[in-house]
Amino acid sequence: MQKNIVLVPFGHIDSSIINHLSQELDFAFQIPVKFKETQVVPRVAFNLHRNQYRANIFLEVLANLNLSDRALGLTDVDLYNNRHDYVFGATDPQRKVALVSIIRLNPGFYKMLEDIKTYYSRITKEAIYELGFLFNLSKCPQEDCVMHPVANIVDLDLKSERFCGNCSIKLKEFLGRE
Ligand SMILES: [Zn+2]
Repeated sequence: MQKNIVLVPFGHIDSSIINHLSQELDFAFQIPVKFKETQVVPRVAFNLHRNQYRANIFLEVLANLNLSDRALGLTDVDLYNNRHDYVFGATDPQRKVALVSIIRLNPGFYKMLEDIKTYYSRITKEAIYELGFLFNLSKCPQEDCVMHPVANIVDLDLKSERFCGNCSIKLKEFLGRE
């Protein structure tokens, strides 16, 4: 069951981002990464007053695709939920869907110089973090672990792209049972 990860772009996402991320996810989870055709950004998710999109709607769209794999949606629109002014991503472990917005991961968003290495690293960390919940992992207290929750971009830059020892063992055990 759900042996693969499938990447689902909402709107245009640069193919170099998708290719880089698929390699990183393959490496992190040791399972194949597949691709689904580009989906339309759900207009119903747009909040005119906030000029942002509700993350939950994207998760619903992903769940309704009824993919037999774990799905990771990618979008470049700004996301929020009921509890936060903005979110880098979202996840629904029960329905095996996760989501990342790349807009706030781009150094350009903060008026910083273009920096592909930092940009891609942030996307990798956020994607592994959100997907981790679909593999039975949870928030990790280890500050450098990729499953450590972050509140802002500074914290995201501080943690690594890798699982700590405990999370690695949990993941291996889970994948072995599947
Ligand atoms: Zn950990």
